[in-house]
Amino acid sequence: MPFKGYVEISVEGCKGCGLCVIHCPTECLALNMSDTNSYSLHYAYLKEPDKCIACQNCSIICPDAAITVYKKIA
Ligand code: SF4
Ligand code: SF4
Repeated sequence: MPFKGYVEISVEGCKGCGLCVIHCPTECLALNMSDTNSYSLHYAYLKEPDKCIACQNCSIICPDAAITVYKKIA
């Protein structure tokens, strides 16, 4: 049974490349098209938290190490 997970994404550390969005198997990430960071980049965020399974694909693929993945215990 897959884990439940949660990710923290650094708004300022994200360059909006979208790689994490593409490689998330449960499609729970998205780029925030209604906001930007201080570099005027649309950063990624956890759009559907209930769907994260803590697989770590996003943190592995992120070229800027902007994502931290947590596994929920219970
Ligand atoms: S840990 Fe896996 S399921 Fe969760 S956001 Fe990252 S790629 Fe998606
Ligand atoms: S892979 Fe990293 S830099 Fe690219 S959009 Fe996702 S969090 Fe941002």
